[in-house]
Amino acid sequence: MRTNEAYVEIKGIPFLNTTSYELLTQHLYPALEERKNIFMVTANPEIVMEADRDREYAKILREADYVIADGIGVVIGSKLMRKPLPERIAGFDVMEDLLKKADHEQLRCYFLGAKETVLHEAINNIKQKYPQLIVAGQHHGYFDLNDANVVNNVKEAAPDIVFVGLGFPNQEKWIHQFRNEFSHGLFMGVGGSFDGWAGHVKRAPKIWRKLNVEWLYRLIKQPSRWKRMLQLPRFIWHILLKK
Ligand code: UDP
Repeated sequence: MRTNEAYVEIKGIPFLNTTSYELLTQHLYPALEERKNIFMVTANPEIVMEADRDREYAKILREADYVIADGIGVVIGSKLMRKPLPERIAGFDVMEDLLKKADHEQLRCYFLGAKETVLHEAINNIKQKYPQLIVAGQHHGYFDLNDANVVNNVKEAAPDIVFVGLGFPNQEKWIHQFRNEFSHGLFMGVGGSFDGWAGHVKRAPKIWRKLNVEWLYRLIKQPSRWKRMLQLPRFIWHILLKK
């Protein structure tokens, strides 16, 4: 268990106690410069509750280098525990910062996940915005997780950053299973971010994000998500019970 003040442990998951700025400047950019092998998880309450149900998944999250609080529910939970995390760090924003960095430094990015056409559109849009970034490779997300051809394809691309958009828990399971086969690379699960980049799923306008109600916007736009979102009150309830 990681107990120092650099982490806040919520239901057994060690969240990095940091701001988005510090995450980038003190952890991720130096890791890229030093060509380290890094696994980052952007976890929301749904992910924490999945880890509560699936022990193997919980172990995978605990063994990641960084778990960051991608959900206002996690920040609220930390406050209820009186170990407040400073802010929500949206995975989509971290991905964008990394793309920007890749553009500046001409880093090699691999994009794994989503449907073939969605991935193609996403990468086109990313390349338009960040033309200097190198697309080291890409593969859609509908494959057997153990398929050696996929991991070999990623390895041959020698990526500096691997964005894995298979949805949780599979994206974290895939990264955990294969990351040690890479000499270096920043591995990050990005959920449905490729759909966002392709323009298929719109992000909440800034004001909604500022008010921390991006989740409500998503629920209105994709009502089929309501069942998944019930994990949020369950998560808060679990924390209150523990108090
Ligand atoms: N996906 C995939 N392979 C699968 C199942 C899902 O690549 O076998 C992709 C899916 O196309 C979507 C993403 O994973 O792009 C999951 O998006 P969702 O919004 O469910 O993820 P979240 O952001 O909530 O983790």
